[in-house]
Amino acid sequence: MNPDEGLVALSGWGRTAHRKAVVRRPSSDNDLVGLVQATSRLTVRGAGKSYGDAALPEHGTVLDMTAHNRILSFDQGKGILVVEAGATLNAVLAQTLPLGWVLPVLPGTAHITVGGAIASDVHGKNHPGAGSFGQHVLWMSLLRSDGSIHRLSAGQDSDGFWGTIGGMGLTGVILQAAIQLQQVDTGWASRRRRRTGSLKETLGVLRELAAEQELDPELHVVAWLDAHQAGRGVVDECRPARYRDLPRAVPPFPEQRGGSVRRSIRSLPGPGVMVRPAIAAASSARWKLSPAKERQLLPLTTALCPLDRAGSWPAAFGRAGLVQYQFAVPVEASDVLGQVLRLLVERRTTPALTTVKNLGYGTAGPLSFPIPGWTMAVDLPARRLGDGTMLRSVGDLVAGAGGRVYLAKDVVTDPALIPAMYPRLETWRRTQRRLDPDGRLTSALAQRLELLS
Ligand SMILES: Cc1cc2nc3c(=O)[nH]c(=O)nc-3n(C[C@H](O)[C@H](O)[C@H](O)COP(=O)(O)OP(=O)(O)OC[C@H]3O[C@@H](n4cnc5c(N)ncnc54)[C@H](O)[C@@H]3O)c2cc1C
Repeated sequence: MNPDEGLVALSGWGRTAHRKAVVRRPSSDNDLVGLVQATSRLTVRGAGKSYGDAALPEHGTVLDMTAHNRILSFDQGKGILVVEAGATLNAVLAQTLPLGWVLPVLPGTAHITVGGAIASDVHGKNHPGAGSFGQHVLWMSLLRSDGSIHRLSAGQDSDGFWGTIGGMGLTGVILQAAIQLQQVDTGWASRRRRRTGSLKETLGVLRELAAEQELDPELHVVAWLDAHQAGRGVVDECRPARYRDLPRAVPPFPEQRGGSVRRSIRSLPGPGVMVRPAIAAASSARWKLSPAKERQLLPLTTALCPLDRAGSWPAAFGRAGLVQYQFAVPVEASDVLGQVLRLLVERRTTPALTTVKNLGYGTAGPLSFPIPGWTMAVDLPARRLGDGTMLRSVGDLVAGAGGRVYLAKDVVTDPALIPAMYPRLETWRRTQRRLDPDGRLTSALAQRLELLS
């Protein structure tokens, strides 16, 4: 008999971590409860858009939540949405944006599920003012591993609530959530773009904008860096456009694409196209072709989720895949950003994509990623990383500066660094053990980083 019969091949979005597993995809609460009660080791999976092994099992069954995806109610007056956790952000926006309501936090892709957005407590480009996704969750229902369903909110089992926000699917299965949406005048964004000549100048512009962002949750800011040229960059500022800003012929809400996820494209053979000279040439062209435009009007989702137009991005890194390493450091540790870039360039592992964003205050979630300061994300060809020693030395730099890695994207971090990076890990573990006393919920990430011990 084929030992793989009935198993499904899964990977993270970066295609570096792979597992074969039994996958179940129930749609009703009853079926979900039955499955959870009958399964001894369970890994919860949303759209599978975490880059590494967060939604992969080490052992046991995978619970795919994408069939549990109905919008249950939407209060058009107050902007309160109640939705099942397997619905994608794109599917939510397709319903609510034409009515003038948007999710207040959008990560670089809207092809993720509401459950995945809560479990990773995702952030957008407006974090200093808007905070992270979990801050807009009014309540959620959590299916615990004993089959009981609990309602959690900031006032009702707040430890369970904040332990689940950013809890990487290890406290229970999020079934439903109520989310406070933000009202917008139009479905367009107004973008201002400017070019910077060095890392120092880029960070200076970002800091100035951080002060504005703290007062304005609608101000989205991101910098792209040319890692080959000492961090010269392009800084984008976006705001939802007001009705009065639109040219007359433009409809207030552009047609919204539905929640369909594109078919995944097979990885290119060998190293793909991500080789140093090609990356350097593309980065240089991108910088040169990005002249400052005073204002440009774009569909809001195109402006905020640019990576949704690049579904084939991981395939371009070839068979070995792509590692996105994302970390946060406090404001005063801005030197670390330059040190990391220099280290990568010296070791000839120049990133294919480098972005920096401002972060503001985090949530009460002990495993939530954002801390006030900077976050940098670098997309690296996995084939250049060998046994991961170099990124582990980056981890030492980050931890030494009081920073942390983003668990939703990690595949390389030394587990010994996690307690320093997440100093409230023990508090979270107590909540996790209370909610899942038999230790049924697990993942490859949890085991690799020893999150549950
Ligand atoms: C192109 C791209 C851009 C991105 N940009 C950003 C960004 O700007 N900001 C940011 O913060 N993140 C970003 N991410 C990361 C992504 O938002 C997170 O990894 C997110 O968690 C993925 O959601 P998912 O539905 O795909 O969940 P999965 O990847 O399937 O799972 C992620 C985690 O959520 C848990 N989980 C999923 N559903 C449930 C549920 N119903 N109940 C309990 N746990 C659950 C899983 O166990 C796992 O731990 C980006 C990812 C991509 C691919």
